[in-house]
Amino acid sequence: MSQQDKQAPMLVVRNARVVTCDGPPEAAPKDRLAIIDGGMVAIGEDGRVSYVGPEIKSLAAAAANVVDAESGAVLPGLVDPHTHLVFAGSRVDEFARRMAGEDYQTIAKEGGGIAATVRATRAASDEALYCLAARRARVMRRCGVTTLEVKSGYGLRPASEAASLRAARRIGEEGHCRVTTSFLGAHAIPPERRGDRAGYVDEVVGAQLDAVVAEGLADAIDVYIDEGAFTLAEGRRVLEAGKARGLAVRAHAGQFADLGAAELVAELGGLSADHLEELSDEGAAAMAAAGVVGVLLPGAWRTLRQAAPDVGRLRRAGVRLAVGTDLNPGTSPTTNLPLCAALAVRDAGLTLEEAVLGVTVDAAAAAGFEGVGRIAEGCWGDLAIYAHDDPRALAYGIGDVRPLKVVLGGRVVHEEPRDGVAVW
Ligand SMILES: [Zn+2]
Repeated sequence: MSQQDKQAPMLVVRNARVVTCDGPPEAAPKDRLAIIDGGMVAIGEDGRVSYVGPEIKSLAAAAANVVDAESGAVLPGLVDPHTHLVFAGSRVDEFARRMAGEDYQTIAKEGGGIAATVRATRAASDEALYCLAARRARVMRRCGVTTLEVKSGYGLRPASEAASLRAARRIGEEGHCRVTTSFLGAHAIPPERRGDRAGYVDEVVGAQLDAVVAEGLADAIDVYIDEGAFTLAEGRRVLEAGKARGLAVRAHAGQFADLGAAELVAELGGLSADHLEELSDEGAAAMAAAGVVGVLLPGAWRTLRQAAPDVGRLRRAGVRLAVGTDLNPGTSPTTNLPLCAALAVRDAGLTLEEAVLGVTVDAAAAAGFEGVGRIAEGCWGDLAIYAHDDPRALAYGIGDVRPLKVVLGGRVVHEEPRDGVAVW
């Protein structure tokens, strides 16, 4: 298609160092960034990228809005592939006690821990739950994030799991961010069901799954397979039930103990296995063979003072790696995805280029979200426009790397004054 055939763009970003993240998947990370110097991105009325490449003057002249990037880096809007965004209540007090040396089990026995969040989440109105989550999503967007994976898992009964996922869907519908949802009824056994594990798993694959599937509230099913959580056999039952209802598959795998969850996700053709502090060579090989993305969650390993996953093992096996915030009130209270990328570099040995890919194109693969995480014709017109020109600065700065402008579907949805962002 020649440029004359193109409709007048809604937005053109010119004078840009366009970091497309659209290089060949098999190329070295540096080449996968596929940078276009002196580049331009045009976004059409449909909110999708209609052109990316060297500058075309006539395209800028025809555009309704033009942004001069002043040679700054223009990245795809960032993708957070793992959040527990929807919850109510605070666990600051519990965190203070844990950091002072108190045992988590003692706190949990007194009704703290995840049970406290479940209580607060169940008690919150639908509107309150939505408002809290939407506010978090808007704060994340200031860090350049335009697509979120959002899990349930603090309702743990049919109506409350459905309410959490409804709040997540509404964030997408009201245009704060793009959202993909995962049903995580098998996050924990709720207090009132202790001593009835089998009965609770029956409910997860029965009434809970029915409730979320009936309304189309979930895109994927997730399960927490670990010591102190669900067994591999229970996890298999949950994931197979979700898959049979047409949901994509992912799992919390190997955060404390390697129970074989990574192999299970691979066997079921899942999208991602997340955490991976504990993982065998066999698990890594199975993930690579099945194209399962490994999602690193530094906020959690930092809060729990654990050793980071073995990125060398994952890299040698050929596993694609992404980074998520794991935003949750217990083990990772952060909205800052670039901070997590910076920690994944420092703690786990991700290269800077891998970190950039891990919050863009590889995070999109983990999230199972098409048309985000890279800048290419036909993809969504979601961009993060920076004052610096080196994309690696995203994971170099420790947590205060913010874009000047964030574009969602061709609309500028967040803007900072030029002297309001640090330059690296
Ligand atoms: Zn999680």
